[in-house]
Amino acid sequence: MPENTTFPGDKIASIEEYEAGYNTFDDGDMVRAAIVGEKDIDKTARIANVKHPKLLSIPQVGDIIIGTVAAVMSSMIAVSIDYINGKPTTSKVECVCSTRNLRIRNVALVNDIVKLKILNHLNGTIHAAINEPDLGILFTKCRKCGGRVVPMRDAIKCTECAWIDERKLSSGFGNSDFIKMRE
Ligand SMILES: [Zn+2]
Repeated sequence: MPENTTFPGDKIASIEEYEAGYNTFDDGDMVRAAIVGEKDIDKTARIANVKHPKLLSIPQVGDIIIGTVAAVMSSMIAVSIDYINGKPTTSKVECVCSTRNLRIRNVALVNDIVKLKILNHLNGTIHAAINEPDLGILFTKCRKCGGRVVPMRDAIKCTECAWIDERKLSSGFGNSDFIKMRE
């Protein structure tokens, strides 16, 4: 492996000397790589970049992403990012979202489609928020039978087996062409 290969979270420069460029983030002290790639230091412009052959797209703080829930843990979900600000991305970058303060039994299920806002990059992990009205689940299924669900006040109800469950729904939930609603 070439010496200038980077992994997410690797230190690539000091922020006193360089600004964070492509595929990097600034942790307040160091410029770190956000992706697996090749270190690319622009000494003239004083910008530290990471190059990737597939041109990975890394969401920036404040970006709205739509992704697929990859894992559900007790206090967070992991989401594989499919769209950044409405633009499709194939790089399959993951972000995590804390669900600790939501007080909802099943915030999301694996394979749900969810809309999140990027909060920060911390130690190589991209953190996102779900606690705004338009953020949350855009598409989900019944946890019992996999059937279609309809919203019912703060809950959802299965049209097949009548199972009632909770999710953190987006205000855009139920709009099947959610991809067109993107900003
Ligand atoms: Zn059901």
